[in-house]
Amino acid sequence: MYLGAIEAGGTKFVCAVGDRNGKIKERVMFPTTEPEETMRHVVEFFRQYELEAIGIGSFGPIDLRPGSATYGYITSTPKQKWVNFNFVGEMKRHFSVPIGFDTDVNAAALGERRWGAAKGLQSCIYITVGTGIGVGAIVEGSLLHGLMHPEMGHILVRRHPEDAFAGVCPYHGDCLEGMASGPAIEKRWGKKGAELAGRAEVWELEAFYLAQAIANYILILSPEKVIIGGGVMKQKQLLPSIRRNVQELLNGYIQQEAVLHDIDQYIVLPGLGDNAGICGALALAEQALAP
Ligand code: ADP
Ligand code: ZN
Repeated sequence: MYLGAIEAGGTKFVCAVGDRNGKIKERVMFPTTEPEETMRHVVEFFRQYELEAIGIGSFGPIDLRPGSATYGYITSTPKQKWVNFNFVGEMKRHFSVPIGFDTDVNAAALGERRWGAAKGLQSCIYITVGTGIGVGAIVEGSLLHGLMHPEMGHILVRRHPEDAFAGVCPYHGDCLEGMASGPAIEKRWGKKGAELAGRAEVWELEAFYLAQAIANYILILSPEKVIIGGGVMKQKQLLPSIRRNVQELLNGYIQQEAVLHDIDQYIVLPGLGDNAGICGALALAEQALAP
C-alpha cells in the first residue's frame, strides 16, 4: 500500500506515490492546463496503485474550513478555469480513501517538519520565493489555519528609499510578493533572475525585502526554524545577505542563540530540497490517515 501525493502548482502538477518514510517510489509531472484535462492525468496515474490515502498541497486560495459547503475547493485564484474547482470532491469521486488537503506551502512546511530541516520541532515556517511568495506555518505542532489560511506573501513591507518600482501584485502593488517575487525581479531589472547573478545590487535589494518579512514572521509566530526555498533562492548570495539583514532588523531584541549566533542553522534552505512540496503532500496523506 502506498501514499499518494499531489503538488498542485499554477504552472505544473507533480503526482507521486511513496511511503511513510517520505520515500518517493514513482512520480510524474505535467503542465497545469484546464481542470478536466489535468485531473485526467492525475486519475490515470494513481489508478495504477493501491493507495491508503492521498495528500494534496495546492495553489490557492483554497477553502479549508471544516464543515464549509465549499471545503476542498480552490476559490478565488487568478487562474480563471480553476475558480471554484472542487478539488477534494473530484478526487473522492475516483478514490475512496482519506484525502488530506492544504496549501502548497503548508504542505511543504509539514514535509520539512516530518523529514527535513525542521524534523522533531514543534514549529517552523516554510517560505517559497518563486512566481509568487507563499508561506506555510506550523505552530505548536499543527499547521496554522484560521479564517482561511495565512497569506503571508502579501504582507506590507517598508520600501527601500531608492526603489521607485511600483510592484507587480495585482491586488496590492507593492506588497512583499509585488516587490520580491521572481516576476517582480524580472520586471524591475528587465531580465530574469537567473541572468542577474552577477549584479550585487539586485540581491541586496531582494534581501532587504525578504529579511523584513522574515523578521516580522519571527516576531509574530516565533518559529524554531525558518526554511526558505523556491526558484529565486537558487541565487546563493541571497541567503547570507538575508540572515545579516534579519539580525540587523531584530537588533538584539530576540535574545535567542538561534538568532544572535546560530542564524546559519536557523534560517536555512529546505532540507528536502526541491522535494519539499511533494514530500509535504505525502505527509498530508499520512496525516489524513491519523488526523
Ligand atoms: P513556481 O513558483 O512557479 O512554483 P519556482 O519556485 O521555480 O516556480 O519559481 C520560478 C521563479 O523563480 C521565476 O520567476 C524565475 O525567474 C525564478 N528563478 C528560477 N531560477 C532562478 C535563478 N537561478 N535565479 C533567480 N531566479 C530564478
Ligand atoms: Zn499582494
